[in-house]
Amino acid sequence: MAFLPFNIAKQKKLNVIIAGGGYAGLAALTNLLQFAPDTHITLIDPRDSHVKITHLHETFRYPLSDFLIPFSVIAQRFGCRYLQATLDLSPDSLQTYQEKRQLIVNEETLDFDYLLVASGCGDVADRSDTGNVLHLSDFMTTSGPDLLTPYLDRNRSAAPIISVVGGGATGIQFLFEIKQFLNRIQCKAKLQLIHSGEHVLNQFPDGFGSYAESRMHESDIAFHPNTHYREQQSGEILLTEKETKNQYELPSDLTFLFLGKKQQVFFTANAFGQIIVNKTPLPNVFTAGDCSSYQSLGSNSLTAQSAVRKGKLVARNILRHAGFPGILEPYLHQDLGYVVNLGASDAVGWLVAEGNLITGISALAIKEIVEAQYDLLLAGIDTYLV
Ligand SMILES: Cc1cc2nc3c(=O)[nH]c(=O)nc-3n(C[C@H](O)[C@H](O)[C@H](O)COP(=O)(O)OP(=O)(O)OC[C@H]3O[C@@H](n4cnc5c(N)ncnc54)[C@H](O)[C@@H]3O)c2cc1C
Repeated sequence: MAFLPFNIAKQKKLNVIIAGGGYAGLAALTNLLQFAPDTHITLIDPRDSHVKITHLHETFRYPLSDFLIPFSVIAQRFGCRYLQATLDLSPDSLQTYQEKRQLIVNEETLDFDYLLVASGCGDVADRSDTGNVLHLSDFMTTSGPDLLTPYLDRNRSAAPIISVVGGGATGIQFLFEIKQFLNRIQCKAKLQLIHSGEHVLNQFPDGFGSYAESRMHESDIAFHPNTHYREQQSGEILLTEKETKNQYELPSDLTFLFLGKKQQVFFTANAFGQIIVNKTPLPNVFTAGDCSSYQSLGSNSLTAQSAVRKGKLVARNILRHAGFPGILEPYLHQDLGYVVNLGASDAVGWLVAEGNLITGISALAIKEIVEAQYDLLLAGIDTYLV
């Protein structure tokens, strides 16, 4: 919801470039067009489709195509331009973009009034691994069954052992989906979770971890806490005990690595979303989403929820900056909740206040509503009240 009244528009048709068509970039795009339909928008992204990442673990149940929207479709739907490219986002380049209000992509020079950098962040993946290791990024292009089944087919053992590394939200969501997929295809593979902490989901309020761990126990998933992953080799996984630094190995045929997010390119912004380079905000270059940290009271959590709120705020602030008297709105959004799926029919989450724990059907229903709200945004209907 707009926090301050909009300013009086003084400019001609605005020319905005959005680098990154994820949650933040598309929230900004739809909001810009909602408030200023004649804005000319160019969307730049190296991928050919928007990935609804919050559903990726569900590709064990649904086709990956259900969670992809080609950027060509988005461009057509919203009447904007899409260029498949990776924008150079080094501090020097950003400074030059600001000075010239111009950038070069695919050998084409593009002028802009405002640039939004919403490039997200990659997962922490040790790409030196070869062979039997799968990463989050593999799921961006291939669905869960298509990744897992070839390993199971190749493995001669009747009961292969599959390791999932990482007991954060992503690892846990994949863990339960993998377990249920193995049950569905009647595969006797054993599943084990390796986690660096004492308990899973330790970034969430108390109760998340114990609920998920009790479900793991019921589902016969082995748990190795306080353990660091080193390497998956043929038939075994090499590990280090966190406290003692003892190195040991466990039988393992395949590892899924979910080590969390890595803000490879990371931008500090002022409370209005303008990128700070050399301690100075760039007035026409904004950032939003996982790649950004705002110097404000609002939440900088690496979530779709924050990404959408920052994207929407930046859209409003671009229009305010372009108008008169150009007073910008600070970012104040606080997290409203978070739900972690534990397979198709269970979930654990919090809503409104961190102590307000919800589980089972109620948690699943909240997640469905949140996802439906985002789908509506992508259809051009903004139902977000805060
Ligand atoms: C399995 C899973 C489940 C999740 N579930 C939830 C959930 O339930 N709720 C929640 O709030 N969050 C959830 N998250 C987190 C959420 O997905 C992220 O916080 C969100 O995607 C961040 O949005 P973003 O727009 O910043 O980045 P992204 O959605 O990652 O989009 C970034 C885009 O930028 C593009 N890009 C990258 N570099 C460049 C460049 N140089 N130039 C141009 N474009 C570039 C990328 O190709 C990409 O399209 C989940 C994450 C995972 C992995």
